[in-house]
Amino acid sequence: MSSDSSADARAGDGPLIEFRGVTRTFTNRKSSPVSAVDDVSFTVNTGEVFGVIGFSGAGKSTLIRLINGLERPTSGSVTVLGQQLTTLSESRLRHVRKRIGMVFQQFNLFSSRNVAANVGYPLRVAGWTKDQRQDRVEELLEFVGLADKAKSYPEQLSGGQKQRVGIARALAAKPDILLADESTSALDPSTTGEVLRLLRRANEELGITIVAITHEMEVIRSIADRVAVMDDGRIVEEGLVYDVFSSVRQSEKTGFVGSALKDRPTAEDLRRIRSTSSGRLVTLSLKNSATVSAALGRAGEYGVRFEIVHGGMNTTKNASFGLLTVALDGEAAAVEKYLEELRQAGPVQEVSQ
Ligand code: ADP
Repeated sequence: MSSDSSADARAGDGPLIEFRGVTRTFTNRKSSPVSAVDDVSFTVNTGEVFGVIGFSGAGKSTLIRLINGLERPTSGSVTVLGQQLTTLSESRLRHVRKRIGMVFQQFNLFSSRNVAANVGYPLRVAGWTKDQRQDRVEELLEFVGLADKAKSYPEQLSGGQKQRVGIARALAAKPDILLADESTSALDPSTTGEVLRLLRRANEELGITIVAITHEMEVIRSIADRVAVMDDGRIVEEGLVYDVFSSVRQSEKTGFVGSALKDRPTAEDLRRIRSTSSGRLVTLSLKNSATVSAALGRAGEYGVRFEIVHGGMNTTKNASFGLLTVALDGEAAAVEKYLEELRQAGPVQEVSQ
């Protein structure tokens, strides 16, 4: 279906989406201007799943609307599928938009149309014949596991099934990019898994590039290759999911990642640890576990004793990693010196006392 000009990006032709210094400022008479997206730069490559995570109000919706051209940047440039959106006419913009599928939090299905008609709707708009539509809809319903629901109406479906219809519809016209906007936020945890597995299959089996915006760590953890953490309009951290999540660097800005990790001691754990251990508490990333364990093995050389007081694992799409919290006992200066060695082995985060 992608029959567009040779100027369009193709697999291997570089990034599918590129933001360069993009700012989108809203001004209204009542309040001071708000930069919903503030000097943001990133690229999304062909075939990857790029996650954007942040609290409500961080600027995620504005970012997604900048990708599909529903918002224009106040400054900076947005390039999608090889086209600089800022310079495009409305009709060229529509052309780019046709190659982007959208999945919505509230599904946005037509309640008066059955499942097959919902999935076939974008194909009607795109001028596919009835026979072509029928074949494609069958194929899509098979892919999302709803072949037996073609004649059902949305109200007869569970939330997870509705979202699977939403995904089938988004994939119908064989887009190059799928934008998933809080695609699992209206679902309960058990159905969330079913929808995330489907998105992952769409990426792996159909090769579609996905940008998923979410406030749920689970989404990033299970489908994303790379993640950008947004806060107050800015990207405050970006990288491979594994690297961002396994990093124990902690700042106010990265609090989002930190607060969502389950493998650090909670306040209650800390109270329990404090009642039995007196040492200085630090959390170590086990990304380079051999190096970390070798460094722990040398504690005695510094006159420092350590006790493992907490540990846990995190699993991401591509890998698992652990964090270990240890209590270090010894002369303050010796512990300080030993911490230098630990820092050589990997990121170390001081646990606030
Ligand atoms: P998120 O999707 O992460 O919740 P949004 O992109 O919706 O964040 O919003 C980011 C900030 O921009 C918020 O402070 C919001 O109030 C503001 N904002 C978003 N859209 C508009 C608009 N059309 N007019 C004025 N302010 C807006």
